[in-house]
Amino acid sequence: MEPFICTTYQSRIVFGSGTVASLQDEVARLGGRRVLLIASSRHLPVGDRALGDLIVARFADAAMHTPVEVTEQALRSARTADVDCVVAIGGGSTTGLAKALAARADYAQIIVPTTYAGSEVTPVLGETANGIKTTRSGAEILPETVIYDVDLTLGLPAELTLVSSINALAHAVEALYAADANPATSALAIESVARIGQGLAAVHEDSFDAEGRADLLAGAWLAGTCLASVGMGLHHKLCHTLGGSFGLPHAQTHAVMLPQAMRYNATAASDAMAAIADALGVVDAPAGVFDLVVAHRGPTSLASLGFTDADIPRAVEIALNKQYPNPAVVTAEGLAGLLANAVAGRRP
Ligand code: NAD
Repeated sequence: MEPFICTTYQSRIVFGSGTVASLQDEVARLGGRRVLLIASSRHLPVGDRALGDLIVARFADAAMHTPVEVTEQALRSARTADVDCVVAIGGGSTTGLAKALAARADYAQIIVPTTYAGSEVTPVLGETANGIKTTRSGAEILPETVIYDVDLTLGLPAELTLVSSINALAHAVEALYAADANPATSALAIESVARIGQGLAAVHEDSFDAEGRADLLAGAWLAGTCLASVGMGLHHKLCHTLGGSFGLPHAQTHAVMLPQAMRYNATAASDAMAAIADALGVVDAPAGVFDLVVAHRGPTSLASLGFTDADIPRAVEIALNKQYPNPAVVTAEGLAGLLANAVAGRRP
């Protein structure tokens, strides 16, 4: 076995059905008395019911990629209401805003995720200022408590289910071939891949299938745990570039790019690919993931997201800017070819 260093991040995880009802107890456990509730109009009533009088302020305008001007607006509300705890109910954008507030004022955070993004268990915050997305990491950014309530994900729209699941799958896939992978993260990653595969099959049949939804949510938690602990490779780098510099939607971009990035790395990471294929019950991992996206009517081409061949040279330039570990050598020609396949939506 190769020697390794493993850094783990501990949040308290509450997982089950109806767990959002434990919110008041969980706030009290952190010593909170004055809560800022961050949720879109869809989930504000859920928070209102669960938190009652603990809420002293509400914020419904979280946005994707965490723009700093939105954070500053929310921070003013939090300071005016003298809050000591932030509760976020929603997807990765809502979670991102809670983390951005904690980065500035070290509020206690409780996150109730309603998608499979995985951000809730990482100490990483991505923020956008003047059109540039940067990331930072810190202990104060990691949420203290995460409440996974399967009930809140029942009936999640099919497209969101698919793209968000592939977003989670991408964390697990890249964890398996990460340069700093270790036995713990690899075990979590394989369990995550298997649960995501099973969960997607179940909710394809019935969007309200509670076991399938639980598999997807647990898979997302495990994948997020991997994301927190090991370095991500080419796939995440490209998605970061496409989201941050070209404004492409986060989870949809992951769904298009993952099979293509997996093909790029397939020879150099053949053991990881074999393990992924086995966990998904397919013959070839990159083609199997592409077929999964097609079967769930997810996006397969960057062209469908508004990115064209003309954008490729600039994307290659940005993506080559910074070095990062990746199984296959990353070259300008290689990236251009990968992106051309992704624009066209070719089966890898
Ligand atoms: P999102 O939070 O923007 O949600 C996508 C859409 O789904 C939104 O319109 C939202 O209102 C809707 N939605 C959420 N829950 C729903 C539900 N239960 N039913 C119906 N609609 C629902 O997108 P996302 O993909 O969850 O998160 C993306 C953001 O998270 C990006 O900004 C990304 O950078 C960030 N992220 C950060 C990390 C990290 O570790 N820092 C990890 C993953 C993602």
